[in-house]
Amino acid sequence: MNSIEDINLSKRDFLKYTTSLLSATVLPFSYQSALAKENWDAIVIGGGTAGLPAAIFAAQRGLKVLIIEKASILGGTLFLSTGQISGAGTVFQERKGIKDTPDQHFDDIMRINNGTSDPILTRTLVDHAGPTINWLEKNGYTIFENHPVKKIAHDPFRTARYQQGPMGGISILNVLKPIVDSEINKGSITVLLETSANDLIQSNNGEITGVIVENNKGDILEYKGHNIILASGGCASNPLLYEELHDVPLYCQMAYPQSQGAGLILGQSVGGYLRGGEKYSPLYGMVLADNKAPSTPFAVAKNVIERMPWEILVNSKGNRFVQEDHESIDHIEHVIGDQPSHRHWAILDQAMLSQMPDMFYDWKNQRIIDESGKQNMFQKADNIRELALKTGLHPLNLESTIERYNNNLTNNKRDEFDREHRPLPINSGPYYSIRMSGWSLCSFAGLGINENFEVIKSSGEPIKNLYAIGEVIGFGATSGNAYVNGMGVTPALTYGRLLGQNISST
Ligand SMILES: Cc1cc2nc3c(=O)[nH]c(=O)nc-3n(C[C@H](O)[C@H](O)[C@H](O)COP(=O)(O)OP(=O)(O)OC[C@H]3O[C@@H](n4cnc5c(N)ncnc54)[C@H](O)[C@@H]3O)c2cc1C
Repeated sequence: MNSIEDINLSKRDFLKYTTSLLSATVLPFSYQSALAKENWDAIVIGGGTAGLPAAIFAAQRGLKVLIIEKASILGGTLFLSTGQISGAGTVFQERKGIKDTPDQHFDDIMRINNGTSDPILTRTLVDHAGPTINWLEKNGYTIFENHPVKKIAHDPFRTARYQQGPMGGISILNVLKPIVDSEINKGSITVLLETSANDLIQSNNGEITGVIVENNKGDILEYKGHNIILASGGCASNPLLYEELHDVPLYCQMAYPQSQGAGLILGQSVGGYLRGGEKYSPLYGMVLADNKAPSTPFAVAKNVIERMPWEILVNSKGNRFVQEDHESIDHIEHVIGDQPSHRHWAILDQAMLSQMPDMFYDWKNQRIIDESGKQNMFQKADNIRELALKTGLHPLNLESTIERYNNNLTNNKRDEFDREHRPLPINSGPYYSIRMSGWSLCSFAGLGINENFEVIKSSGEPIKNLYAIGEVIGFGATSGNAYVNGMGVTPALTYGRLLGQNISST
């Protein structure tokens, strides 16, 4: 019998609650317990980037879907993400006469990450990313006028296939939300907000048969069903787990607050295994608010893809360590990853500050001068020795580093690191140092899955009825040990779509 009728409420009343779920209404407990009597065709843990398309496509095929969402609103990381996605053969490319194929997309990804993403998952992604983006477009998704482009902030593709909506991740959410609403209205999707999946139910033969949740009042409930889908995101808001899995502290917290790694732990608890933490690579140029780990962002420097550097970079010993104008930001970021605590200091002088393009996103260079001595990461001094002492760098090393840089430049000699873009020597005080840190917004480690998105044991054997999509499978699985354009959001959406299209109700 329909459990809603069980508790003597009309379908209309039920719809009143469910349709307002997206504006953060939590179902009354009586409804929650009624829903626990149903047998769901699919239970999606996490209503974010990957979970929403999975729910939509399953519901549109007639499956009865339950979304369990810890936050008070659906959307997950789409609220924060810049929403840059990539795919070959999209209508956006066609409109600009850009010829592209999944094979070219595959080659570009594997070139940029040196073949370190999962080849089978990458192949699935490139074959289906274009159609996923075209599906978004059919449902109202638009992109910036000048997109698709080859690059934004990460190593470039050879073909313009990088596309972004004007509102970032929200542009994508704005497409997904009305479709979810419509499926809620039809009764094919039900959402439990402010409800945390805390455990999986596993039968004696190892099959996953349901989920144990805790609602916002602390009530524990069990929901039973086939096709339990872990789509609860990564662990980049959980410093302890992050460090344990990546062997690197979480220097900066930028991820969605609910990215606590719940799915990683749930998957492991029933026999799944974690992989990919070793693929961690830091991003460039984060000025932290303070010395805590994790800290919060204070300013982010534009990298070589966005701006040619005038400053030099030194490590904690006061030595240069990389060709600052290297054409690959991925190369620079990996070398930053080899430096103590992934710290890198920009050293520059007044003449550079007055003439160079703005160094930080959303800042004029004047702000660097204003922050110096005020915000701990920015220091200013009349000579290099004093600057080194204020900054905590080795004074003699820093002096000789700058002397060699200047000598080579003024004598027209080759730079020690083969740097070519050397507009000015560092010889016109006052001098400035800016301490920057490596950072990341994603977790590279995640659950092992097979080509059908089934969670697997380390032996490769699938755990029946348990699937994982999105960052819970690890950013490293799809992006490898590099930040390849769009390889977080695109696989989350694409695998969600594919899984929703393929799971069966029995
Ligand atoms: C600031 C930022 C910018 C980014 N920009 C880009 C970009 O431009 N391009 C790109 O490709 N990638 C980008 N990424 C990465 C990308 O956004 C993510 O990898 C991707 O969105 C993750 O999708 P997901 O579905 O796995 O997780 P989410 O979208 O976070 O969804 C997970 C959902 O699960 C819920 N949840 C968590 N735990 C539980 C639980 N126990 N029970 C129930 N629900 C739970 C969460 O509340 C959330 O709603 C960015 C990331 C960040 C943080």
